[in-house]
Amino acid sequence: MKVFEGIGELITLSGVVKKSGKRIVEKDLGRIRNGVLVVDKGRILWAGSQSMWVRQRKGIPGISKAKKVNLEGRTVIPGFVESHTHSVFAGDRSKEFEMRMTGVSYEDIAKKGGGILSTVKATRKASLNHLTEDLKLRVNRFVKQGVTTLEVKSGYGLNSSSEIKMLKAIRSISSPKLVSTFLGAHAIPPEFPNAGKYIDYLIADTLPKVVKAGLADRADIFIEKGYFDSVIGEKYLRACRDAGLDICVHTEQLNLTQGYQLAIDQKAKSVEHVVQLDAKGISEMAKSETVCVLLPAADFYLKMAYPSARKLIDGGARVALATDFNPGSSPTQDLSLVGVLARIEMGMSLPEVISAYTFNAAKALSLESEVGAILPGYSADFVVLDDGWDRLFYSVGYHPVHSTFWKGKRVF
Ligand SMILES: [Zn+2]
Repeated sequence: MKVFEGIGELITLSGVVKKSGKRIVEKDLGRIRNGVLVVDKGRILWAGSQSMWVRQRKGIPGISKAKKVNLEGRTVIPGFVESHTHSVFAGDRSKEFEMRMTGVSYEDIAKKGGGILSTVKATRKASLNHLTEDLKLRVNRFVKQGVTTLEVKSGYGLNSSSEIKMLKAIRSISSPKLVSTFLGAHAIPPEFPNAGKYIDYLIADTLPKVVKAGLADRADIFIEKGYFDSVIGEKYLRACRDAGLDICVHTEQLNLTQGYQLAIDQKAKSVEHVVQLDAKGISEMAKSETVCVLLPAADFYLKMAYPSARKLIDGGARVALATDFNPGSSPTQDLSLVGVLARIEMGMSLPEVISAYTFNAAKALSLESEVGAILPGYSADFVVLDDGWDRLFYSVGYHPVHSTFWKGKRVF
């Protein structure tokens, strides 16, 4: 057992949990001045103010033997939940970025061997060890920013052996918590004549192997013109759900495809991007339990419009934020950039951004009763800040993280 004392301000997010991540205002952050946090066996046993602690500590068995840690007036917030990344890949697309910036068209880049298929080629060639070592470095960059739960997708293998290799790389990392998402339906590989034939292959061959080996928690699909349509998507998502996986859907990124409706009907935990949603789509999302994961860094890199966060939130939808880290459309791991874009370009308030990067992101991953808040029973995942919570998501590149704790252990 450990007692963390001397917490200048403890941000519990108790109000965010009570409101289940909807219509968040500052008082929902559950701020406690002069806080105390007690951790036992990786979980939060007690959280509250110093004055309450003095009155209640005697009732806790074994408290006299607990180790004390003085945080010297620092701020403590829940560990960040990064709920959408493509962090496993090989190869490099920096040259392609320069081509795009100097006016070369997408088609010409693809003809020169660029685009997603160049990452597929490099990832298929890479060894499991190579993928794992690169992933470790990337995971560490997130942990240094206070991330304690990280979602990572496959999707650059596009055949059974390479998808399984990517998922094995994700599963080989034991700290902090990684959520593994099978994204075999990311694009249609050149070996297949059309999307239907490829989906049939995924359902018959890849999915059973992935599930049998316990390599994925969730499945994802890219519903978009030129990729997978809603009819194929429905067949695929049903198969994934029947196999016991949670589902999420990349949709309405470049075109309005009505993929959001498929996601709601199939009880997807989240929809990703949703830049192109119309008024009907926004109101349907607001009525649903499905979390909208917004990825403004990708919109920034693609010079696109930003999703209608304000309308979604005001309508009653749950919004999460993530980097969409990938080598093509969002080659950044920086949470501060995402939060600053959400505030400047999408009109989100700071408490909304904090909730979107903790509890709401946990909800997108079906982990909202485990992570994303500092309450008794939750995993002891928290960040000790060298600065006030109100300095977060303000200065791009500024990460005032003194230390990151996962299950009560210091991981940075
Ligand atoms: Zn993505």
